[in-house]
Amino acid sequence: MTNEELWQAALGEIEISISKANFITWFKNTTILSNTNGRVIIGVPNGFAKEWLENKYNSYIIRALQSFHSDVKEISCIINHNQSLFTAQSKNIDAIKAPGQELKNTSLPPKIASIKPSVSNHDTNLNSRYLFDNFIVGENNELARAACYAVSQNLGKLYNPLFIYGGVGLGKTHLLQSIGNEIISKYPEKRVKYITSERFTTELIDSIKNQKIDKFKDEYRKIDLLIIDDIQFLAGKEKTQNEFFHIFNALYQINKQIVLSSDRPPKAIPTLEERLRSRFEGGMITDIIQPDLETRMAILKAKAVEKNFYIEDEVIRFIAENIKNNIRELEGALNRVIALCDFTKKPPVLSTVKQALAGIISSGRKNDVQYKHIIKIVSDYYKISYEELVNKSRQREIVRPRQITMYLLRSELNASYPGIGGWLGGRDHTTVLHAYEKIHKELEINEKLKDEIKVLQDAIYKL
Ligand code: ADP
Ligand code: MG
Repeated sequence: MTNEELWQAALGEIEISISKANFITWFKNTTILSNTNGRVIIGVPNGFAKEWLENKYNSYIIRALQSFHSDVKEISCIINHNQSLFTAQSKNIDAIKAPGQELKNTSLPPKIASIKPSVSNHDTNLNSRYLFDNFIVGENNELARAACYAVSQNLGKLYNPLFIYGGVGLGKTHLLQSIGNEIISKYPEKRVKYITSERFTTELIDSIKNQKIDKFKDEYRKIDLLIIDDIQFLAGKEKTQNEFFHIFNALYQINKQIVLSSDRPPKAIPTLEERLRSRFEGGMITDIIQPDLETRMAILKAKAVEKNFYIEDEVIRFIAENIKNNIRELEGALNRVIALCDFTKKPPVLSTVKQALAGIISSGRKNDVQYKHIIKIVSDYYKISYEELVNKSRQREIVRPRQITMYLLRSELNASYPGIGGWLGGRDHTTVLHAYEKIHKELEINEKLKDEIKVLQDAIYKL
């Protein structure tokens, strides 16, 4: 077996054990440079790939190589600059290049690949862009991804309902729709419906108005996979909750799959009927949190590859270090960079990128602010100690600043409610949610509080 053949074979193994997006991102343009005394040296196009292959994928690679060449003991990567950045070395990777999209090896970004129009099937409401294959897995989402994937392979049998929760732009809709797309591609005869809870409510109200409620219910009862996104908007809608409860039960009893998402766990959805809450809690609940730097870089890299846009590691790192809140913002930033480069015909060097993103990040807001920093600012401002803030005291002088801390941790860091509870002495996430909503509401009417928050925010960002 030549090195080339060994690598092709190993790539074939690796490809089936990781997601397609991860595979393309990390294994494109790689090759075996040498294989001596059990030590395999892999040529990679950049330092970023070296880091990932050596650290994250080390064991996958060794296992794959060993199944064809049992002597292999270790691997290391060398950055191979001579390698064309845009010529896929592997047949496996070549195969997934869109037809007619020949990538050029040029320092200028290639013209942005025309993005495939998202063909959405009106019946299912699914968008074909959202697939497991282009979902990058990181520590923040791996459980949620695994649960969704498992459900797609065992419809109605494994976790029912599956409930995914997490903040905005973290990939909930992407994952939910991936289940739907996986099912319709494998079993076109299955009835799949994706709907947001708001749309569900509107449809329900319309059907009542038009005296078609029975037809509405019948339609829902025929569904094999019902996906309801952003279920938190059912809060306070008693009539909708009641109808949903019946549809839920009808489907559940005949083992039809239900998948739900929300920005918070069922417990923390106010005015959710107890019987619905307990139904939701009867299945599998898992969260998605904010991605760490590594995952943000991986996502950017994958999105750039998807768009046939070459981007240096240092630039990827700069964007990922500065945009932390969610993936939607991260994608937005990348699109800005691509647009600017396309417009100015300049490659995406750091200075161009800083310019493209100046409006988003230069204010210093959201940059490198840590939760401890926020807690310290609040405790200094109200002249109470860190211990007082996190302990169980229920004195008004302490409770109020504690609620303000919770509010700021949420508003400035977009941190999760359970995470904030953990930072503040192991409090329950519902306490944090309650505090956040209390302050949020009060800000609409209390000018003094508004000023206080403004002063605190200025202090946080040293304005
Ligand atoms: P949410 O529903 O949680 O608000 P979305 O699913 O709409 O978030 O995700 C926002 C954007 O980020 C979408 O374009 C989605 O494709 C992308 N995205 C989120 N997570 C990932 C991921 N892990 N890998 C690739 N793209 C992602
Ligand atoms: Mg969503």
